[in-house]
Amino acid sequence: MSKKNVPYRVYLSEKELPESWYNIRADLPGLSPYLNPKTKEPVVPDDMKAIFPMALIEQEMSDERFIEIPEQVRELYRSFRPSPLCRAYNLEKLLDTPARIYYKYEGNNPSGSHKLNTAIPQAYYNYKAGIKRLATETGAGQWGTALSVATQLFGMECTVYMVKVSAMQKPYRKLIMETYGANVYASPSNQTQTGRSVLEKDPENMGSLGLAISEAVEDAATHEDTNYALGSVLNHVLLHQTIIGLEAKKQMEKIDEYPDMVIACCGGGSNFGGIAFPFLHDKIRLGKNIEILAVEPAACPTLTKGKFAFDYGDVAHLTPIIKMYTLGHNFMPPGIHAGGLRYHGDSALVSKAYHDGLIGARAVHQTDVFKAAVQFARSELILPAPESAHAIKVAIDEALKCKETGESKSILFCLSGHGNFDLTAYEEYLSGKLTDVEYPDEMLEKGYESLPTV
Ligand SMILES: *Cc1c(COP(=O)(O)O)cnc(C)c1O
Repeated sequence: MSKKNVPYRVYLSEKELPESWYNIRADLPGLSPYLNPKTKEPVVPDDMKAIFPMALIEQEMSDERFIEIPEQVRELYRSFRPSPLCRAYNLEKLLDTPARIYYKYEGNNPSGSHKLNTAIPQAYYNYKAGIKRLATETGAGQWGTALSVATQLFGMECTVYMVKVSAMQKPYRKLIMETYGANVYASPSNQTQTGRSVLEKDPENMGSLGLAISEAVEDAATHEDTNYALGSVLNHVLLHQTIIGLEAKKQMEKIDEYPDMVIACCGGGSNFGGIAFPFLHDKIRLGKNIEILAVEPAACPTLTKGKFAFDYGDVAHLTPIIKMYTLGHNFMPPGIHAGGLRYHGDSALVSKAYHDGLIGARAVHQTDVFKAAVQFARSELILPAPESAHAIKVAIDEALKCKETGESKSILFCLSGHGNFDLTAYEEYLSGKLTDVEYPDEMLEKGYESLPTV
């Protein structure tokens, strides 16, 4: 089955945009509840009211399988969705593989990544609840950009705490956010108690995602008209991202295809859950034989080397305690270039699916990732985000395996964003200066010591 007549790009019409998101909580029994960081008792909706609107808290805890997308959100989605499903003919030719490679491209919107898929509904539900400002953190800058875009669509303000090392590496990301009207502070900042106390002890601190989250949560919790928004990890974020996989399924159906493998990079797990969960639904409920792989950096090996344990989502212990794969909330990741993949933990949903053996995981090194990124750019013409290139690397590995075995597998991966703002990283790679970082076992052990006892 060669499927030679498949077009380069498979589109859906605006009318075919999915009407509901898929909530995998309905099909993943045995999930542990979030715990209150102070009492260590299961979180109740009231615990989260200080920073989230009720509609999102309900989605966070809902066990309904399909949740309707509000018409106003669908209307805004239509300006950049459905996103194309692309057949990577040129990459296939370059690799000389019998595999059929498909990718879902999420970089075709002003934020440049999949993150706008959740930024819009999050801004919408907060706006409906009368909230005037959203506070958030951003690592590489994609999430801050997406939320800046989404908040201004609803006439809301946006405050972004940007991990200091990223703010320095990516000045254009900061400028984009400001262009869309956000206030951006390098974190640790002197805007919050958390930031000030870190700076007092260590004025040169370069920040981390966990620390920036603490700042944004504190900002939201101490201002009545302000809520917090998170770009990954939480159930409602992954819920919104399932629009990716739901569209991909319809697109593959149109060309009479079904993937043997689904691959995505995994930081907090939102683009992974987004593309994978609608297919995982088929695996769980319909017994489909499909291999699903999460790809992470060897320098931040949350699934492949982390512990499945209860841990805080942030440095200051303000977020709920979540049962997840974690490297410990004090984990300070090495300065690798895939900023979006440096979080210490992983979504509870992805963690549970991995723990139950429903999905697999691979860890890859950044020099291999950039080699794959350049191969992809030169054949498929899109410059991939370093995060997305983790998925490309494993898709290429799998396609090359097919070449050895002669199998003609159908491989689908998520191209979560473009890398047009990541040229410093490409420069390092092209000039031979990029090196690989492995996280040493002693450091891992040290990270586990910070896990709370519950
Ligand atoms: C943020 C980001 C990621 C990682 O986040 P997930 O929640 O794991 O998806 C991956 N790719 C891109 C382009 C991103 O912006």
